[in-house]
Amino acid sequence: MASVLIRNIGALVTGDLKNPLRRADSIYVEDGLIRAIGNGIGECADTVINAQGITAIPGLVDSHSHPSIGEYTPAQNSLSWITNYMHGGVTALISAGELHLPGLPLPPDARTALSLALVTKRCYDNLRPSGVKVFAGTLLLVPGLTEKDFDEIAAAGIRLVKFIFYDYSLLPNGEAERYVKWAGARGIKVKIHSGGVSRSGVSQVAGFDIVTTIKPDVVGHITGGPIPMPEKDMTRIVAETDYHVEICSSGNYRMALSLIRAVKAHNAYHRVLIGTDTPGGTGIIPRGMLREIAFLSSVAEVPPEVAICMATGNVGRAHGLNLGLLEEGRPADIVLLHKIAGSVAQDALDSFAKGDLPGISMVIIDGEIRVAGRSQQTPPPERLATQK
Ligand SMILES: [Zn+2]
Repeated sequence: MASVLIRNIGALVTGDLKNPLRRADSIYVEDGLIRAIGNGIGECADTVINAQGITAIPGLVDSHSHPSIGEYTPAQNSLSWITNYMHGGVTALISAGELHLPGLPLPPDARTALSLALVTKRCYDNLRPSGVKVFAGTLLLVPGLTEKDFDEIAAAGIRLVKFIFYDYSLLPNGEAERYVKWAGARGIKVKIHSGGVSRSGVSQVAGFDIVTTIKPDVVGHITGGPIPMPEKDMTRIVAETDYHVEICSSGNYRMALSLIRAVKAHNAYHRVLIGTDTPGGTGIIPRGMLREIAFLSSVAEVPPEVAICMATGNVGRAHGLNLGLLEEGRPADIVLLHKIAGSVAQDALDSFAKGDLPGISMVIIDGEIRVAGRSQQTPPPERLATQK
């Protein structure tokens, strides 16, 4: 029955696009869940946090991540990256496939792909580095999978599959469309690697025609990962489909601006997801999610609280996961942040709007304080939350 009360919150971002800012200064948490949000909540709690008037946002959910083995990433031969991302405000990572395993034949055959997904899923079910929720075991779709394989991944709790290596010259045989149908029938979401060839060198190129034949739930890194599809293809996907579209740190900035123009024209903010597409050739970016929010807020002129929804509630909803919302009954994954000394901004949201990164004071996952005082990955915010 551990309880936490956060009081004296300045701004509160909900992660829900329909109502991104909520007038409330307190969040009460019990047993890892948000029980109440309101003004001047006076509940007794085991831990009382004084937010000192700084901003509360939902824990960031990286829509496109490449975990591999625990906190080790073979992509950059580095350790502890997940803890460092947590210090950048990330409380959940959604795997876009565990394709960095050293020696993994690319593309893998169907049995290897299935085994890799199952083993990775089972490992991360038992492992939450620094409390971070890692949704891994994302099955890499290759020819030769059966409906029974989809039963097996569904039984293991896998909720995402991905097209990246699939040979699209086989599309006329209908197998890929059957995969999408089998996934949908089991509540499993489908993501596609869109655009040009990835670092692997063997991924398949996918633009408007391939993407609209597959009909995925999420168009992975539509603005490039690292190479985007042609601009016309991208804007057609926004205009003519209802798929979710990812903006990743690995991508093309010019295309991200173009995407946001199309999103504004079609009022499609609810379809935009932010991810980093790391670790990978782009590196390890603990502040990657914060940087994407700041870029979209300051350069693409998306209101900061809306850009935060793209990095939290939108990502949870698109993947069918209970993540990214500050709302009664939701997991208490909360980040407290504020402007950094020297910034001309007034507060955290104004920092994003002006293109300055805010500093993180506290990260809470499932009601447990994981970062207290200040983050080790951002400069300290000008004001720190305190606890007693
Ligand atoms: Zn990727």
